[in-house]
Amino acid sequence: MSTRIAIIGAGWYGCHLANLLSKLSFDIKLFEKSDSVFNGSSGTNQNRLHQGYHYPRSHRTRIQSRDGYIRFIERYPTLSKKIENNVYVIPRYYSSLDFQTYKIIMASAGLEFTDVTQSIDYLNGIEGALRCEERLILTDKAKQYFTDKLQHCLVLNKEVSLTDIRCGEIDGETFDYFIDCTWGRLSDFKRELFFEKTIQLNYRVRPGASFSSALTFVDGDLFSLFPTENDGMYTLTHVSHTPVSVFSNPDEFDHEVSEEIVTQCRSSMERDMQRHFAQFPEYFEYQGYDISMKTKVRDDSDDRSCYIERDGNVIKVLSGKIDTIFYASEKVLSILTEQETAEL
Ligand SMILES: Cc1cc2nc3c(=O)[nH]c(=O)nc-3n(C[C@H](O)[C@H](O)[C@H](O)COP(=O)(O)OP(=O)(O)OC[C@H]3O[C@@H](n4cnc5c(N)ncnc54)[C@H](O)[C@@H]3O)c2cc1C
Repeated sequence: MSTRIAIIGAGWYGCHLANLLSKLSFDIKLFEKSDSVFNGSSGTNQNRLHQGYHYPRSHRTRIQSRDGYIRFIERYPTLSKKIENNVYVIPRYYSSLDFQTYKIIMASAGLEFTDVTQSIDYLNGIEGALRCEERLILTDKAKQYFTDKLQHCLVLNKEVSLTDIRCGEIDGETFDYFIDCTWGRLSDFKRELFFEKTIQLNYRVRPGASFSSALTFVDGDLFSLFPTENDGMYTLTHVSHTPVSVFSNPDEFDHEVSEEIVTQCRSSMERDMQRHFAQFPEYFEYQGYDISMKTKVRDDSDDRSCYIERDGNVIKVLSGKIDTIFYASEKVLSILTEQETAEL
């Protein structure tokens, strides 16, 4: 009889694992508390398929992203698209790294780039800029893809509790393993977690204006302007103004935010953007905002990599970025096959 596995949470991690493990003949059920897949952070985020350029301070994150990027394109060739002009900018005075150090870190991780400092004439106060390859994750397509592929095992509108897991069964069905893919909402982790309510602002390129770059300012308390799946639409996020509140219990999260906070975030983000891109308001008009939740490890590092913890028959997945789904599936598979080998 094949190993019976309950996966909890149908975001990128739960869907990817359910898809892979089903193909490997594990007997999978994927439980999701809401009424569709990708209703958590996987449905509302900036959708950058990272290669590692955003993480000069975390070697582990850079390496997981660099490797995950290639595997994502191979495994899900239709679920991302190239960004034509993806630029990372080191501003003068506001970055914790100088441009030369940034380039050395990226080059030593094997990441390729072109120095475009001389050709970025519309930005002010910058020390350097490089163009590199990264992609946009196509969330609407991914949502449809997994909804179709996982019909055989997806159970929607089912909130799994810790009691279910402790009893070893969900709605009377027993399982050999439980894989928690709720991004820290269900089980405790050895690492101390906290949760952020996040806001990302939406902008449209003004009619008649022409803009087709992604701009990411690094490193430190800075911001990113990134394209979306919808032509001419961009999201703006900021390291210190995107988190609008912080809590230690994920149940405190809701999508509410006061107009006062939205106005404050918007004015701070636009002010910082205009410090380097003075014509931003001439190119972009504000369209609204989206709220989501981010899970982070409480430490001083900039580590956004993926971690897997095991507690008996419970495998807990602490996602990093979307590209790190492959690190997760490799670790989960090694736990499952280790156990099978031990039982022979
Ligand atoms: C503002 C923002 C910007 C980001 N930008 C990027 C980016 O550009 N690139 C990138 O790679 N990453 C980005 N991320 C991170 C990315 O969104 C996450 O790494 C990823 O979506 C996590 O996927 P997940 O499957 O672990 O969690 P989720 O997508 O949150 O899925 C968890 C699922 O579990 C379900 N669930 C929870 N509790 C239960 C329960 N008890 N029973 C059943 N179901 C349950 C939830 O409903 C949810 O559907 C960003 C995140 C935020 C917030």
